[in-house]
Amino acid sequence: MSIQPSHVSDVDTRQVSVEQYERLLERVRGFHGYAAPGVVLGCFMVEAAKDALPEGVLFDAIAETSWCLPDAVQMLTPCTIGNGWLKVRNFGIYAVSLFNKHTGGGVRVRLAPERLAAYPNLRCWLLKLKPKKDQDTPALMEEIRVAGASVCTITAIQVRPEHLEKRSKGAIALCPLCGDAYPASHGKLCRPCRGESPFADSAEGNEGAGEQPKEPFGGGPRLRLVPVQQAVGERLAHDMTRIEPGVSKDAAFVRGQIVEPGDVCRLQRMGRHNIYVDDGQDLSGWVHEDEAAQAFAQALSGPGTAPILPAREGKVNLEAVEDGLLVVDRDRLEAFNLIPDVMAATRRDGSLVKRGMRVAGTRAIPLHLRRELFGKALRLLDHGSMGDTMGGPLVRVVPLKPARIGILVTGTEVFQGLIEDKFKPVITRKALALGASITRTVFAPDDAGQIRDGVLALLEAGSEIIITTAGMSVDPDDVTRRGLAEAGATDLLYGAPLLPGTMLLLGRIARENGAQARLIGVPACALFFQTTSLDLVLPRVLAGLEVTRNDLARMGHGGMCMECKACTFPKCPFGH
Ligand code: ZN
Repeated sequence: MSIQPSHVSDVDTRQVSVEQYERLLERVRGFHGYAAPGVVLGCFMVEAAKDALPEGVLFDAIAETSWCLPDAVQMLTPCTIGNGWLKVRNFGIYAVSLFNKHTGGGVRVRLAPERLAAYPNLRCWLLKLKPKKDQDTPALMEEIRVAGASVCTITAIQVRPEHLEKRSKGAIALCPLCGDAYPASHGKLCRPCRGESPFADSAEGNEGAGEQPKEPFGGGPRLRLVPVQQAVGERLAHDMTRIEPGVSKDAAFVRGQIVEPGDVCRLQRMGRHNIYVDDGQDLSGWVHEDEAAQAFAQALSGPGTAPILPAREGKVNLEAVEDGLLVVDRDRLEAFNLIPDVMAATRRDGSLVKRGMRVAGTRAIPLHLRRELFGKALRLLDHGSMGDTMGGPLVRVVPLKPARIGILVTGTEVFQGLIEDKFKPVITRKALALGASITRTVFAPDDAGQIRDGVLALLEAGSEIIITTAGMSVDPDDVTRRGLAEAGATDLLYGAPLLPGTMLLLGRIARENGAQARLIGVPACALFFQTTSLDLVLPRVLAGLEVTRNDLARMGHGGMCMECKACTFPKCPFGH
């Protein structure tokens, strides 16, 4: 590049003739719709920038305003928004840069306010000193013709490397609500479905909604607000809570209740000075928070859970109806929570829960939810309509089977009795705590054949799950795993993003009756640390759930144990 950084030069002040100028205006009209002063001036700026670049340079452009200037670039260069060679950095500054698309070296042409003294109409236009209707447009256009790019400065620039990178769309996802393809980086729903659509809702399922809400936070139907003193005989439009610190938080007044003379004082003591009353107005475009919460809770609730009905203060909780492992479809929960004006919160996926425990809660956020959003939210929860990517109820509790577990302890020293085995007591304690039983424990030396025979003996004894020390070695040729393979182990997964407990092995082995036994190879650290990857995986295996590479990968966030002096697992974030 011939221009040195920070060099500032005057640009060519060649004027165009009136005839040339008229041809330019005609071209601008054809491209931009009318001969906007900004586009015409922009044409001089772009030509000045092109002149300052060496011949034959492949260049990109940056416009620092979205007004007019980008059209001058698109008219006079191959750079467009669509091909990505023109980028708009909307600083609202009248400047355009062209630069070598590989090296980033180039020039910036800037309309210079300090050079406008001789051009009052141009100055007035740039600084918006007069309303557009009072502007002397012919005089302005003539000033632009005379001035050309002489009212600009031109500077050498070097574009930062990160701004030279090719634009990439990244991964594409299909929106589960509308089916459109959109950048996966935007989240689990496309942006229009998250409430950013510029278009009014369709009339479908929305009769009577009439006006679109203009208020922030979704708005609502126009309910009548009445001062408490005048509320006697009115019908309350929603529940109201009395909150006494440390005491109850029950609904003191419920929706539909008629206000009695004695209630006025109670409402005032609750800090209520105005209340919304139900006049029986047309609410057909809206869904009351109680109805919304009940519908959401029923749709959220899968096997092993039940909604606690009726709704209280617009909210419905789900409780576990049996002991087991809580399974939450986290992707769909995230998608649901991206729909405006609705919410659902759950305990952590993979938590062990007891019957009667609250596991999730849901509600609409405003008192009245737009029916259109209500429909969207229900569609997302309706697992039947989701295709194969998302399916099944969003929240369920899966009971742990009282499975029969066989333990295979490997290692020549332990086999010969030279070292005391610590593995069997640890595994036995953890298995019994989860309601499983131990069929048999087999000891085998570091010999593939004897390990194979040990596995077969455990299967013979009716083991549905085999837990071994197989994960203990970092050596991929470890005889233990060879022995397991010889016994027919398949679907092996080795290694999990968990600390402690990375060297975890998961697999399956065919049993004689056609069923499959699950296989868990436990890393050595399970003997020294109280909580390891085994504690995350064993409940899932007992619940009969698959543990896939994806499931393990997800555990990496939170997969580093905090190593508390007194372990509080599972009341900690390990593996979540
Ligand atoms: Zn969508």
